[in-house]
Amino acid sequence: MDPLQTSIEYLKGIGPNRANLLREELGIRTYQDLLHFFPNRYIDRSAFHSINSLPKTNAEVQIKGQILNLKIVPQKRGKRLVATFSDGQSSMEMVWFRGHKWMQEQLKLNTAYVAFGRLSWYGSKASMPHPELTLETDYEATKIGALHPVYPSTEKLVNKGVSQRIMKQMMTNLFGLISNQFQENLPDYMLKELQLISRKDAIINAHFPKDLQALNQAQRRLKFEELFYIQLQLIQKNRLQKQKIKGYVFPVVGELFSNYFNNYLPFQLTGAQQRVVKEIRFDMGTGKQMNRLLQGDVGSGKTMVALLSMLIAIDNTFQACLMAPTEILAVQHYQSIKEALGGIEVKVGLLTGSVKGAERKTLFEELANGNIHILIGTHALIEDKVVFKNLGLAIIDEQHRFGVAQRAKLWRKNDLPPHVLVMTATPIPRTLAMSVYGDLDISVIDELPPGRKDIKTVLRSDANRLDVFRFMQDEIAKGRQVYIVYPLIQESEKMDYKDLMDGYESIARSFPLPDYQISIVHGQMKAVDKEYEMQRFVEGKTQIMVATTVIEVGVNVPNASVMIIESAERFGLSQLHQLRGRVGRGADQSYCILMSGKKRSQEAQTRLQTMVQTNDGFEIAEVDLRLRGPGDLMGTQQSGVLQLKIADILKDQDILKTARFFAQKLVEADPEMKEEKHIRIRQTYAKIMTHKNIWNYIS
Ligand code: ADP
Ligand code: MG
Repeated sequence: MDPLQTSIEYLKGIGPNRANLLREELGIRTYQDLLHFFPNRYIDRSAFHSINSLPKTNAEVQIKGQILNLKIVPQKRGKRLVATFSDGQSSMEMVWFRGHKWMQEQLKLNTAYVAFGRLSWYGSKASMPHPELTLETDYEATKIGALHPVYPSTEKLVNKGVSQRIMKQMMTNLFGLISNQFQENLPDYMLKELQLISRKDAIINAHFPKDLQALNQAQRRLKFEELFYIQLQLIQKNRLQKQKIKGYVFPVVGELFSNYFNNYLPFQLTGAQQRVVKEIRFDMGTGKQMNRLLQGDVGSGKTMVALLSMLIAIDNTFQACLMAPTEILAVQHYQSIKEALGGIEVKVGLLTGSVKGAERKTLFEELANGNIHILIGTHALIEDKVVFKNLGLAIIDEQHRFGVAQRAKLWRKNDLPPHVLVMTATPIPRTLAMSVYGDLDISVIDELPPGRKDIKTVLRSDANRLDVFRFMQDEIAKGRQVYIVYPLIQESEKMDYKDLMDGYESIARSFPLPDYQISIVHGQMKAVDKEYEMQRFVEGKTQIMVATTVIEVGVNVPNASVMIIESAERFGLSQLHQLRGRVGRGADQSYCILMSGKKRSQEAQTRLQTMVQTNDGFEIAEVDLRLRGPGDLMGTQQSGVLQLKIADILKDQDILKTARFFAQKLVEADPEMKEEKHIRIRQTYAKIMTHKNIWNYIS
């Protein structure tokens, strides 16, 4: 057996109890896990303090001295063990609240120690609770350098006596056992080209760095290795998927597409739209199943790309479907696509939860016999009862509302899976996208239709409300429409609902009938009522739309020029950006007014400021990522990006790019990794695939 797969129970000084603790608290089971349990910081222990000149803070310090006496002192609850520790000139107290018996047996009086720990101050009296005490002779003998590792730990571990000292001891014991077993897993040419240190040096120096430079080199090497193997996995997965999953071939760009393109297109495509349509067309012609992510900021014109792609499918005698996250949005897609099609002969169906009875039955029939070419709808599309004659292309809009599992479900409708296009307006930085969605190809619409003006965004408080109302009146007088959005967040649904209704009443008072018409849409309304209200706004029959975030995604009313967001501090950045994207869709100057009280967190402040400063979705995504980390990114759970042991997906973007570049080059040149110089990679990769864990590969 691979010695690194040995249970830590058998490591000197651990045993079954500690092994259990380490497994439960830190997920460490094997030698391997322990080896890759890296310190999260390092402290400089080259300096010594004298007790006279201790910093008056809670700093971690190191002092040489001896224990003069030990005594048990009773306290309110239990007792504590107190040592008087002297450095020859002055003395201070070292204190233990637990583990007295063991400490008393261990500690030697009048013997030279090195004490290390965090200072506590009681007035002018320093003390050090639970210090790490090392015999000075041992300290000298171990010579492990001035930078000492500090391992991540938990309260429970500390309480059960697994201190930093014990952790370091475990590591030292482990290294004693296996240090000659660290095999290099990157080819020499890569090490040379990238000036990376050997794997063995890297692991040793990550735990016990010789100096700062060695530590940096060790971290760089290990981060590269980690990211390289993740990228390699993703790229290989993508390659194999393309090989394996056959798809329908759409060889022709037929009459429908050409006729539409030449005679019915309502506007000229942007360069980015043209490029993306070409990418999609190419993909669907290869014989492999397309799995493509289309990223484009709000308003960048993804719907037209979807429509053109669907026409290609129909030209090749297939059906297409478009799935939207909400009913309102599905209805809107249905209407705008029908409108965009003009007089062209394509039959479009709509399937939502509200389509019932005979209507539903007819729809299903027409779907099964192929009368319907394009089906637009909500989640209802993936129900088992929905049977297509021959679904060739499935488009999913605003994918963050759908899980990957749901995407996969679409595939099972036919013998061959349909091509899949996932459209999202939540841009994430490109390198990151590639590492998160390794199994998807990516297209980006990075250009807005011409003539768009940046939306002017301002931050306002309740004190400005009258001004805001006046501004609304002015815009409405010009024939424009206004959205007012209230937060609706599940935990406080009742409160939010009350806020919404209070807000609605106050707006209704200031904008009275018959001069003003107001729509209201919220989650507790029936779908038909929602749609009715929405429709009135779309048709311009109402000037103001009061709503909760149900309108967040996709709704398109080009005549709306003002977006007012209430309690804006409660929204996330991408949500704010989405909401703002509801305006600025026509040729007129549009405005976004963020209403917020004075009281808000630092993070909320950053979010609001970012919105005021920029309209660029990618820039906003970067800030969002920095604020929240990658944890909330869709799909990250599946990709393993979060389980990184040493690299940081945000901070190590440069290393990530390099790693991806090298992985790509490798797969292009030698996809099976058969060449002599790639043997280490092949072996390591094979191990990853058996253990299904990126860090389970060395031995
Ligand atoms: P999104 O990418 O957010 O889904 P839409 O597809 O809803 O954006 O497009 C937003 C608006 O821009 C729509 O009114 C659409 O008709 C219009 N539009 C899309 N592409 C173009 C273009 N190339 N030129 C002019 N207007 C366009
Ligand atoms: Mg859209």
